[in-house]
Amino acid sequence: MKQTLNWQIAAIKDIKPETAKVKSFTLTLPAWMRHRAGQHYDIRLTAEDGYQAQRSYSIASEPEREGEVDITVERIHDGEVSTYMHEVLVPGDRIEARGPIGGYFVWEASMVEPLLLIAGGSGVVPLMSMIRHRAAVGAKNPTSLLYSSRDFDDIIYYNELEKLRTASNGVQVLHTLTRSQPPGWKGYARRIDPEMLKEVAQPLGKSVQAFLCGPTLLVEAVANALVKIGIKSDQIRTERFGPTGG
Ligand SMILES: Cc1cc2nc3c(=O)[nH]c(=O)nc-3n(C[C@H](O)[C@H](O)[C@H](O)COP(=O)(O)OP(=O)(O)OC[C@H]3O[C@@H](n4cnc5c(N)ncnc54)[C@H](O)[C@@H]3O)c2cc1C
Repeated sequence: MKQTLNWQIAAIKDIKPETAKVKSFTLTLPAWMRHRAGQHYDIRLTAEDGYQAQRSYSIASEPEREGEVDITVERIHDGEVSTYMHEVLVPGDRIEARGPIGGYFVWEASMVEPLLLIAGGSGVVPLMSMIRHRAAVGAKNPTSLLYSSRDFDDIIYYNELEKLRTASNGVQVLHTLTRSQPPGWKGYARRIDPEMLKEVAQPLGKSVQAFLCGPTLLVEAVANALVKIGIKSDQIRTERFGPTGG
């Protein structure tokens, strides 16, 4: 059996609140393997009566970090696993994990084409691993992140994204807030639509590679719209996180 399919016991090293509904967990892994940005781990919880629940969580950290990974989990209302992770887990606890998993939704710095990253909500997590990887190796390919959140306070990694945006060879970061916007907001204020995609994608040129991640409906709508504005489907990779995202 491939090593990544074996379950191992990960220790929770650190828990960091990102927003009111989102926390990042640093997992120390005894059988750590270097991941590719975009891959995920499976997490399995076992109750005292033997009942098990298993979910996938994208790796948020860059592959250059050794021995540990960060995952970033949004608490879903009544969600079995995400609620447990938010409300019960404390540093020092142990959980079962296996990974890294996935070979399609991955970006490596050897891919030199311009990069278009599009996220809805916690869909930003695997894209953040790509952005952190890009920064860690000093890649210079033009890169834009279009990130849709409901409200300003829901934006995950806001401060780090601001730093990366203003760094040399940084990432262009464009936010859209679909529900409410703070006074003086200069970003977009609507759901992602073809006009917005044109503005973001066209400066990146014809060889752009697109990675889309988030709620199922958002990913499907954005993928269709990208094809309509002339991006070939083999230049678009998608990852769906959940039923609708509400
Ligand atoms: C490859 C992959 C990577 C993922 N990476 C991440 C990640 O990095 N961070 C993260 O927070 N989640 C991620 N997810 C989603 C995650 O696996 C779980 O589906 C999510 O945490 C909900 O699990 P739960 O046990 O809390 O909720 P459940 O008990 O499974 O569901 C409770 C209710 O919420 C609904 N629901 C389930 N999932 C979602 C969702 N994603 N959005 C909205 N409603 C939902 C269900 O339909 C149900 O009504 C990923 C999913 C996949 C397939």
